Amino acid sequence: MMIQHDLHSHSLASDGTLSPADLVRAAGDAGVNVLALTDHDTTDGLEEAVRQAGPAGLRLIPGVEISVSWESLTIHILGLNIDPHCEVLQAGLSGLRTFRDWRATEIGRRLERAGIPGAYAGACELSRGRIVSRTHFAQYLVASGHARSVAQVFKRFLVHGKPGYVAGQWARLEDALGWIAAAGGLPVIAHPARYPMTGSKLRRLVGEFRELGGVGMEVVSGCHSRDDINAMAGCARSMGLLASRGSDYHGPENPWVQLGQLAELPVGCRPVWESEDWPVNQRSS
Ligand code: AMP
Ligand code: MN
Ligand code: MN
Ligand code: MN
Repeated sequence: MMIQHDLHSHSLASDGTLSPADLVRAAGDAGVNVLALTDHDTTDGLEEAVRQAGPAGLRLIPGVEISVSWESLTIHILGLNIDPHCEVLQAGLSGLRTFRDWRATEIGRRLERAGIPGAYAGACELSRGRIVSRTHFAQYLVASGHARSVAQVFKRFLVHGKPGYVAGQWARLEDALGWIAAAGGLPVIAHPARYPMTGSKLRRLVGEFRELGGVGMEVVSGCHSRDDINAMAGCARSMGLLASRGSDYHGPENPWVQLGQLAELPVGCRPVWESEDWPVNQRSS
């Protein structure tokens, strides 16, 4: 039997819309056998997700998606199969959440100056006391009639050069990899085709990542086109990285990324779940 791996997903602990238990149930129902929960800069959803995995009939890989600043860009690095009790990891994530909290107040101030009051309070309410993401600002601006869609809010307000943009001051790449290593996890570059960079810059990132102990990159992602998948498969192969596969599911409201619908890894990729460091009983035959 083919094992269906989905190694990138979000819950209410960050900017997803399902509780960890509901996410795990939905993944199981969609035919996913191995699911990684990888919330942004927090591991708070993992305990609930692990508890639900048995009843849902799937294997839960504890993960995290770490926000990294690299050469003035924001990059996301997944830590797969981490020990969430690792103090080094938790200290690092806690620092990122401190920046996140400050950034949220700053986004709110800037939107207020641009004529949109109440966005900070609105985003905090939508985040339900957990991490505040730009996604929550986008949801609030849609709900309050300032834009038609979350995608439109990002384009008009939350990206570089727009009124609510605040530059990221996230982890350094070497620090993120150090925290993941301390927690016994496998570092994987998330959605590499989505970063605004040339092929040669991407190869520089991948090379640096590898030198620092990085092992994998997502080849199949919910946001990769067929061309992206082929390009990333070629990049992973030539740079000597393992290939990962993850939906980046955030909830049923984003119908373009669903659970259990991902393409297979292209032939010739070496999957991250065949790594020596992958939990042994999860290797597919
Ligand atoms: P943050 O980590 O708070 O800066 O928020 C980043 C998150 O915003 C990503 O993980 C996505 O879930 C979401 N996001 C980023 N860009 C877009 C976009 N153009 N449209 C919709 N969601 C986006
Ligand atoms: Mn997100
Ligand atoms: Mn991401
Ligand atoms: Mn993600």
